[in-house]
Amino acid sequence: MGFETRRIPVSAAAEVDFEDLGFNFVATAKMFAAIYADGQWTDAGLVDKGEFWIHPAATVLHYGQALFEGMKARLTPQGEIVLFRPRDNAQRMAGGCERLMMPPYPPERFVEAVKQTVLANKEYIPPTDKGSLYIRPFAFGSGPVMGVRPSEGYTFMVFVSPVGPYFKGGFNPIRLLASHKYHRAVAGGVGWVKAAGNYAGGLYPSTLAKKEGYAECLWLDQNNKHFEEVGAANFFVRRGDEVATPLLDDQSILAGITRASVLQLAKDAGLKAVERDVLVEEIDKVDEAWCTGTAAVITPIGVVNVGGKDVTVGDGKVGKYTRLFYDQLNAIQLKQAPDKYGWVMTIGKK
Ligand SMILES: *Cc1c(COP(=O)(O)O)cnc(C)c1O
Repeated sequence: MGFETRRIPVSAAAEVDFEDLGFNFVATAKMFAAIYADGQWTDAGLVDKGEFWIHPAATVLHYGQALFEGMKARLTPQGEIVLFRPRDNAQRMAGGCERLMMPPYPPERFVEAVKQTVLANKEYIPPTDKGSLYIRPFAFGSGPVMGVRPSEGYTFMVFVSPVGPYFKGGFNPIRLLASHKYHRAVAGGVGWVKAAGNYAGGLYPSTLAKKEGYAECLWLDQNNKHFEEVGAANFFVRRGDEVATPLLDDQSILAGITRASVLQLAKDAGLKAVERDVLVEEIDKVDEAWCTGTAAVITPIGVVNVGGKDVTVGDGKVGKYTRLFYDQLNAIQLKQAPDKYGWVMTIGKK
């Protein structure tokens, strides 16, 4: 099956300045595409990365039938190309597709598509300490529909872009704003899905938070009782020997793969790792707090504004376990530490 794209000028890999990568879109050579029609997925496979055409009545444009994943490929110091828990991303996307009434792209083929896309663009993978190749799989309703109902046609794609190291200014604690007025998700909704619309709704409150000098929103549940998560990252606190992260039961929080990994590391470190409601009033009693996600791995939290008041978290500095888990996860991801749980998938050499 063909998939026509209008090529955008490609940044030749040789011209990409790996010393100065931010989190911007860099045009790489190839992307992966597949089309769902007549009840089945057909791969177009690797195509030139470029613009493509879309039907004006595609459900993605009107009813937001769309979701994405975020992953990264890294180069180990030995020159191997590695992915982190890619099957988990595949499963998560499939679960989200079902919730949005979209046919899931089969998980085994998802991992294969990601591999192919990374390998077809491997010259864009930055050196180990300069960043990573960010991978963006996504799917959307591309068939035309007038009424509010699921599309019959879908598109699945994967593109990649080199990104710089997340902590350019060093590993510094961030300030977060917990608003009582704006919420990201409600119980029983689609907060647990990387649904495109969740992020559209977050742009306004997040922009306000940034204007006030905070790095991001720290989302509260709809009753302003407990913490949910941070922008596009999960939230953790440690008090004594207990590491806690909010429960996923309400379907309002995204089940991060980094979150699951950090819970495991916390257990392995001999701490009590629990999933429970983390109440707003606990924040001034915790020893440290951090958030987790693919992009930053782990980000220390120094200040949380709740009820209009800035609260310093612990001593406001990078916590002991924040740093430990960051170092451990980074070492596992780069095959510099034993991979006890089979999290790392080696897919080739640069
Ligand atoms: C992607 C995302 C996360 C982190 O998930 P990872 O699998 O760890 O990258 C957390 N919260 C939200 C809202 C997200 O979109």
